Amino acid sequence: MIDKPILFNMTDAELEQFIVSIGQPKFRAKQVAEWLSRGAPNFSVMKNLPENLRNDLDNLARTMPCTIIKKLESTDGQTTKFLLELNDGNQIETVLMRTSYGNSVCVSSQAGCAMGCKFCASTLLGLKRNLTQNEMFSQVLTAQWELRGDKDNKNIKPNGDPNNNDVSHVVIMGTGEPLQNTQNTIGFMEKLHSDLGIGWRKITVSTCGIVTGIRELTDWGHPINLAISLHAPTDELRSKLMPINNKYKISEVLEAAFDFVSKNNRQLMIEYILLAGTNDSVENAQELSNLLQNKNCMVNLIPWNSVTERDFKSPSGNSVHRFQDILIKNGIHTRIRRERGQDIGSACGQLRLNQKS
Ligand code: SAH
Repeated sequence: MIDKPILFNMTDAELEQFIVSIGQPKFRAKQVAEWLSRGAPNFSVMKNLPENLRNDLDNLARTMPCTIIKKLESTDGQTTKFLLELNDGNQIETVLMRTSYGNSVCVSSQAGCAMGCKFCASTLLGLKRNLTQNEMFSQVLTAQWELRGDKDNKNIKPNGDPNNNDVSHVVIMGTGEPLQNTQNTIGFMEKLHSDLGIGWRKITVSTCGIVTGIRELTDWGHPINLAISLHAPTDELRSKLMPINNKYKISEVLEAAFDFVSKNNRQLMIEYILLAGTNDSVENAQELSNLLQNKNCMVNLIPWNSVTERDFKSPSGNSVHRFQDILIKNGIHTRIRRERGQDIGSACGQLRLNQKS
């Protein structure tokens, strides 16, 4: 537990007051704010401040709401995973993926998770608490700092690719259920849009299917991508894998989700983890096809990332392709999610879990 004030959480006026209170001129507040907006992880990087001020600030305050505890680079050369510590000692995970279409950050919306999905590592330690807007936003700035460091983006010549050094996509698919923390998630997305200029279409919210939250997103009315973690084609099987299905049935979830995408002119993303011998049979593929026939959606098949504490099996390459072929024959857009950073435990919650044990 660190109880120093976090400058990133202050308004401009509060920051100015703080700077004046330590005997500094007001313009220093603007300089500090500029560094904070770029995700400066500490004061020593703030080279335009005098050294004694940097030292004083270091003793009195912190820059961001989260601090990097561990940084893991995947051997794929494209994926960096951060274990971050919040001010109250809770830990969260954030993943940066450098892809051909840009730099994507996978953000956590809660410390832990209450949803209890049987295949997932994030939920094993239960829910600690919701993250604030700033805690979500600072995950993105942590990734942005990783990409750009202390260089201002105006000075960068990124191999002809304007996205090379900026976060271009954000997926709210890390630990936690964003639609149990809907207002902060909405505030966070608004900040991505206004402060970092990230387009709505480059933001994705993934949910296990909280119908009231999906309706709140519909009322909010911006054309983000919505992903539903379906993982089973029937209520009977889904209820065994995902307790939330006892509250909201598949038909209700899909009705709310298709309503969202039709109002926002988007395509619904359906996430379907393949668990060998559980939900990957020919019959399951047929049932899923029937459920999604003629619907405006894209199915992402995700071979399960194994979690030691969980008793499932990853599917073979053959069964993944067999499943995909059946969906495609039935006219359902389907792709297989390329897993990134498996060597660094990119499946939900694994890094945080390993840290605790
Ligand atoms: N609560 C939200 C977002 C977090 S989970 C949701 O349910 O969508 C992000 C995605 O990762 C979900 O589709 C989730 O089911 C999936 N996931 C969880 N554990 C996994 C694992 N071990 N292997 C592959 N995908 C996993």
